[in-house]
Amino acid sequence: MKKSMNDCLFCKISKKETPADVVFENGEVVAFKDINPKARVHLLFVLKKHIDSVAVLEDSDEELVGKLIFAARDMAKKENLSGYKLVFNVGRTGGQIIDHIHLHLLAD
Ligand code: 5GP
Ligand code: ZN
Repeated sequence: MKKSMNDCLFCKISKKETPADVVFENGEVVAFKDINPKARVHLLFVLKKHIDSVAVLEDSDEELVGKLIFAARDMAKKENLSGYKLVFNVGRTGGQIIDHIHLHLLAD
């Protein structure tokens, strides 16, 4: 982990220590609007557990990370999105800026 979890923006948002426009929450996942949307709908689905990225997922995280995809799918259905993109950026060269695993939901 490059940064301590205490300094992690998405940990702070999931603990409500930093404000965000939260649209969904359950025991494992928080979803909020991206501050700099790149599509009409741009939500970020974040695990409450701090994991840096897809690259460092462990076998024991397999079920947990699936919850991001299901939460995004359910939100897309609720919002009647006919089509959308689900994106994990991984590593700096993969476009990842925030080192806390998150799934982008994008739809125009
Ligand atoms: P990444 O490039 O790491 O996959 O995506 C990080 C995303 O977080 C970017 O799309 C960026 O706009 C968003 N973001 C960065 N800082 C904040 C913030 O303070 N609040 C919210 N809601 N989104 C943020
Ligand atoms: Zn974190």
